This record gives sequence, C-alpha cells and structure tokens, in this order.
Amino acid sequence: MRGAVIHAPGDVRFETLDDPKILQPTDAIIRTVVTCVCGSDLWPYRGLEPIGDPHPMGHEYVGVVEEAGDEVTSVRPGQLVVGSFATSDNTCANCRNGWQSNCLHREFMSTCQADLVRIPNAEGTLVATEETPGDEFLPGLLAVSDVMGTGWYAALAAEVRPGSTAVVVGDGAVGLCGVIAAKEQGAERIIAMSRHEPRQKLALEFGATDIVTERGEEGVARIKDLTEGIGADSVLECVGTAESMRQALHSARPGGNVGFVGVPHDVTIDAQELFFSHVGLRGGPAPVRRYLPELIDLVLTGRIDPGKVFDLTLPLDQVAEGYQAMDERRAIKTLLKP
Ligand SMILES: [Zn+2]
Repeated sequence: MRGAVIHAPGDVRFETLDDPKILQPTDAIIRTVVTCVCGSDLWPYRGLEPIGDPHPMGHEYVGVVEEAGDEVTSVRPGQLVVGSFATSDNTCANCRNGWQSNCLHREFMSTCQADLVRIPNAEGTLVATEETPGDEFLPGLLAVSDVMGTGWYAALAAEVRPGSTAVVVGDGAVGLCGVIAAKEQGAERIIAMSRHEPRQKLALEFGATDIVTERGEEGVARIKDLTEGIGADSVLECVGTAESMRQALHSARPGGNVGFVGVPHDVTIDAQELFFSHVGLRGGPAPVRRYLPELIDLVLTGRIDPGKVFDLTLPLDQVAEGYQAMDERRAIKTLLKP
C-alpha cells in the first residue's frame, strides 16, 4: 500500500509501505475512500511539535471494510464505514459514560493518509451507513470523522442553548463546523471571529450572524459591544494558542462557558482569574464516537453540509501539496482521494 510519511518539518512524502494486517481479533482493515489533512497535522509540519523518526500521518477516514477480525460483528466486509480519530471499544466504563475518546482501550489513529488502514477496536469504533451513500455525501461524512464531531463537542462543552449567543474563536475547519453545531443546537446569535474573507463567507453560509475581524483584547471589546457589555453565553475555542484561549476566556460572560477543542500549545490558565470570572471551562479530544450516528444522519438527510470545509481536493499521491496549501492558508482543508 501507499501512504503519507512525515520526515521533518515541511517534508511529507508519499511512500510505499507494508500492507496493514489484522493483529488483534478486534481489528478491521479498511480501504479508504476519502481521507484528509487536519489542522492539527500542521503542528509537526510547522516544526512546532517534535517529529522523531519518520512516521505515517492522518487520523480522518471514510472507508470500505476490507477484512474484519474474528471478534468484529458490528461491521462486515464491503460496508462503508466512518470512525473517529480515537478508537474505542464502546463498552468500558468511560465509553458507557459517553467519553469514548478516553476509552480504557483507546488508540489514537495516525496512519490514515493511506489507501489501507488498520482500525483497532473496530467493533466499537466504526459505524456503517445503512446503504452506500452517493459520492456527494463523502466529504460531509469525512468531516464527521473529526472536525464536525469536534465542533459539535465544542458547542456542547460551551453549553450552547436554544436562544443563546455563541462566539466561535478560530476560522479553521473545526471553527467553521463549530458554527454549524452552534446553529443546530439552537444558538440565536453566532459571532464568528475571522479575518479571512472566504472563511467569513463560509461562516455566514453555515449560520453565523456576525463577523468580528479584530483579535486579542480588541476582539474581546468588539464581542462585549455586541453583548450588552458582558460577553457571550458560550464560546467555542477552536485554535489552541495562548492568544486564542485568552480571547475565548475573556469573551465569555460571567456564568458563561468556554468549550476548548484546539489542542493547547503553550497555553497556561490563570486559576485566580478563572475563579473570579465565573466562567466554566471544558475541553479535550472530542468523544466523536458518541455523536457519529446522529451526525451521519444529519449529513445523509442533507440537514448539514460540513463537507464544504474541503476547498481543495487532491489525489492521495499529492498529499505533500495538500499540506503545503494548508500551511500557506491557500486551503482551509484538503481532501485526499486514494
Ligand atoms: Zn471504552
């Protein structure tokens, strides 16, 4: 098989690799139909996270089951399946509580920018569609496997309620999906913080009611102008930098909530400031598996179309260009076709 391997910052290559094999009876092998490059893949690509030895990349996937281990009964060869970036047995105590991304048997996917992928915990991780959907639904289903599931969790963690005001910090694919989620969960006013015109347009198409282009404390001041001087009920932090987290915490009203899903890099939180702000804070890797059935349904019924975040489609063998386009912000998100 062939897949993407990162060697050094800025150096992703498409290489021939060993075919994955069933290692555990709970594994499945899928043939990817679509996969993609994630904003979080840019951390090592930009040298902001250590790479170590060259290794495969990718954690988002829609595929067809090629082979299933003896203990996998929920999916069978030939079915189209969607899974999460974090595998889960869906039976342990954490999974039963709805925190599948903290499964006691969790493994993070990291080899998905390839034509064949081994899925550990396949029984609990993969969700098959009832019928094989049309190609037009594949980008949306692929978004569900990570960015849409993550945006959905950000809105839930920020406790978006019908009629509430939500702020979305970050205009990457997760932030844009966060706009979709805030709208679906009933927010009446959705303020997207973005200074990039194509992303602003998509945010408005997804349901944003206001755009704020200012950043930092100026951005916070604009949010307060729009919210009776107190800040928003819910803030979705979808970046993971010190600046974006500060902006998110300062944009929430007393008693409001921040959902943070950008993987924090060099972020510290001032406990005393948080204490006096009365702002609630919850984050982490989204338990995407919990939302898969519902989100797959929302995509297949045409109610949401998060697939629009993919504004560049390339053959898988041009994965290096896919990284470069996202790094240079020429693309929001690159879809790859094996
Ligand atoms: Zn579990």
